[in-house]
Amino acid sequence: MNDCAICGLKLVQKQNRLGLFWICPQCRGRLVGFHQLRRVLSKKVADHLWVSAKEQKTLTFKTCPVCYKGMNEVSLTSDLLLDICTRCHMVWFDPEEYERAPLTIPSIDPELRVDQETRKELALLRF
Ligand SMILES: [Zn+2]
Ligand SMILES: [Zn+2]
Repeated sequence: MNDCAICGLKLVQKQNRLGLFWICPQCRGRLVGFHQLRRVLSKKVADHLWVSAKEQKTLTFKTCPVCYKGMNEVSLTSDLLLDICTRCHMVWFDPEEYERAPLTIPSIDPELRVDQETRKELALLRF
């Protein structure tokens, strides 16, 4: 379980303040839970992603690292396609895609106090 959707290597589990995520030690592809992504995207964008993933009939060649079924390709921005598994509620980022995604610092979350330490952590997460 949790093999990289691109090179097939075992993903490494990591944790940040948003929760757990998995990253490929080789290609830096990244698997993130959709609920986590909701916290760093606007509601409109997140809902749009989810609805498009649900409606999307064409599967990508990439398979979900969790259930090994095909994922649905949806566009986050005009040049950024994400793969979403609507069964596992997981989102796959190809290498560099996470860094390019227009994610916001989750200061909107009342549980998260964005202090100096968190900022550093968030900066690190974006590599
Ligand atoms: Zn990989
Ligand atoms: Zn899946």
